[in-house]
Amino acid sequence: MIIDWTPLADLIETRDRFLVTTHVRPDGDALGSEVGMAGLLRQKGKDVRVVNVSHTPPRYDFLDPDGSLFEHFGTAVHPADLADREVALILDLSAWSQLGDMAEYVRSFPGPRVVIDHHLSQDDLGALFIKDTAAEATGILVMSAVAALGAALTREVATGLLTAIAMDTGWFRHTNTRPGTLRAVAELIEAGADIAAIYRDLFERNTLGRLRLMGETLSGLQTDMGGRVAYATISRADLERTGAIPQDSEDMVDFTVSLRGVEVGMLFIEQARGGVKVSLRSRNGLDCAQLAATLGGGGHRAAAGATLPGEMAENVDRVLRAVRQALDPATVAAQG
Ligand code: AMP
Ligand code: MN
Ligand code: MN
Repeated sequence: MIIDWTPLADLIETRDRFLVTTHVRPDGDALGSEVGMAGLLRQKGKDVRVVNVSHTPPRYDFLDPDGSLFEHFGTAVHPADLADREVALILDLSAWSQLGDMAEYVRSFPGPRVVIDHHLSQDDLGALFIKDTAAEATGILVMSAVAALGAALTREVATGLLTAIAMDTGWFRHTNTRPGTLRAVAELIEAGADIAAIYRDLFERNTLGRLRLMGETLSGLQTDMGGRVAYATISRADLERTGAIPQDSEDMVDFTVSLRGVEVGMLFIEQARGGVKVSLRSRNGLDCAQLAATLGGGGHRAAAGATLPGEMAENVDRVLRAVRQALDPATVAAQG
């Protein structure tokens, strides 16, 4: 899709102080896209603050080597500190729920809001949406902005964007990986992104806690519907016992769909503040975004999520019922 970047160019032309933010529990696409967007804006002489509602997982600290880019909303930064911001750029999300404790602040942001995103699901965020649901990552969109606005792919920007694209394509394995994806990556490597170093930073700096949590999560893998569905749970006690931190569960849902014959995989994670986060993945075309929407969440066709109130057991039950229904409506109806 050819994106018209004129509205963003106009804002850059007329405003100076930008706020960049992204979703709760940020992933590589969220943080890498912020690095790219901050680089673009700074090249244009803009004053940029990147303020996120979640702390940066240690896995992504290489994106902000001196710790000066990502700021934390609620502890280090409060709304009053952002009173001078003229434009809010919101990356890699289209749902209020994905802004967590920053939603209220964004709702009352007085200046223009711009959402740059690739998710299917969409709330009315009162924003200008620059959206391509066919894009493999928000990072691809930011890369197109860098080119359209005549900015340079510095090494730093290229590193952020390669991380963004790599993580949202499952390191170039998922069906959203296309020839254009790899062409973009080639360009980022030419611009100075060190793909081997990025891989090591992302995948070869596990903590013992994360590896132990992985082991426990695999041990507890359950199947349903004769093996068409697989799921696992992570409780607060699991985190404590293994010495893992909440962010360590990133990607672990991938194990569920790695089992032969599995069409739908789920990972349920008990949240510190109550409720359960569920990640959904499909390998048979089932629309996870639609399924997640019925649970109050959203996402993409093959990958979506939702945060549910209540206890683990009741939520596993509830989501399993919804998945069975989606996979096999006739049988489920016959069984009552
Ligand atoms: P996750 O399972 O958290 O890895 O999320 C898979 C995809 O669904 C990501 O693109 C998320 O941004 C999206 N997603 C997860 N939870 C939600 C939610 N509550 N609302 C909207 N989108 C979500
Ligand atoms: Mn994301
Ligand atoms: Mn994304």
